[in-house]
Amino acid sequence: YDLKNDEFTVLEELGQGNGGSVMRVQHVPTGKIMAKKIVLIDAKPEERRKLLRELQIMHDCDSPYIITSYGAYLAEPNICICMEFMDKKSFDGIYKRIGAIDINVVGKVAVAVLEGLRYLYDVHRIIHRDIKPSNILCNSDGDIKLCDFGVSGELVNSLANTFVGTSIYMSPERIQGGEYSVKSDIWSLGITLLELSVGQFPFSGSFSDSDDDDDTPAPHSHSHSHRDSLQPPLNSRARRRRSKGVSLHGGGMTMSIIELMHQIVNEPSPKLPKGKFPREAEEFVDACLEKDPDARKTPAQLFDYAWIPTSRTNGVDMKAWAATF
Ligand code: ATP
Ligand code: MG
Repeated sequence: YDLKNDEFTVLEELGQGNGGSVMRVQHVPTGKIMAKKIVLIDAKPEERRKLLRELQIMHDCDSPYIITSYGAYLAEPNICICMEFMDKKSFDGIYKRIGAIDINVVGKVAVAVLEGLRYLYDVHRIIHRDIKPSNILCNSDGDIKLCDFGVSGELVNSLANTFVGTSIYMSPERIQGGEYSVKSDIWSLGITLLELSVGQFPFSGSFSDSDDDDDTPAPHSHSHSHRDSLQPPLNSRARRRRSKGVSLHGGGMTMSIIELMHQIVNEPSPKLPKGKFPREAEEFVDACLEKDPDARKTPAQLFDYAWIPTSRTNGVDMKAWAATF
């Protein structure tokens, strides 16, 4: 596709994240429905061109577990990334709509994410860096695909503000500023699987944020994006919005992002509630949430866990499931 900014009709807003927004659009010359992500970037012209070249990697991805990219272009000061539209949207929205997700469907998510990570790593030598429910998409064919992977260090560095910040799905080693690898994605997968199975983010507000007396609360329209990421603030207004911590809505409690990070690093990993789910699922999630990255399994090793072959053949009809909501 030769994509030009004036050749799209905007149909609806699909959602907003930290970096910008995603629209459902129609590409007029072809009639093709796409999801168009608009991201504000902050980079010099030559860096922007490099960045666009690197986004082409995304274009070269060809896997049933990765969102198809139709192309990207600059529309100053934004970069627009046009991709496959997934009509059932992301798993965060799905579980918030229908409640905790059947463990057999969660098994299908585990298979798809592992396959996606394996593809990105084996074929393109890239790690995802941002595995979380909002970056795992579903369509009415029952396909499960990854989006928003860290295409390159260049992209990550050029994003104005946000987009790739500190996320509540970050592994202990990443929080501590250490080297990170594909195993960090595995931690994020473990947290994601817990969240989908139980129907809530697994770190509950066991600490209440006594410092949360900010008299300039975040506007509600932005509360989503600040709920699950924290970035170095660009200006004092942004800093004030974020400094008092991010509210995690669980049992009416709030926990600051600092307390959450402290808990991730210092407390035992969260687990699936005992006895409620198949033992193979418990073992798999426990393996993902091994705190020591050296002891944590790689995607390749996790394919050998019993839950993966079991989930592949568990008889769940994903297309029929996706038709239920
Ligand atoms: P963050 O900015 O913290 O990463 P996010 O992933 O929710 O959060 P975006 O990546 O901007 O933010 O996406 C916003 C929303 O748009 C997502 O939650 C998802 O529901 C929807 N979305 C993104 N890409 C697509 C797509 N290809 N098809 C359908 N919906 C999409
Ligand atoms: Mg996203």
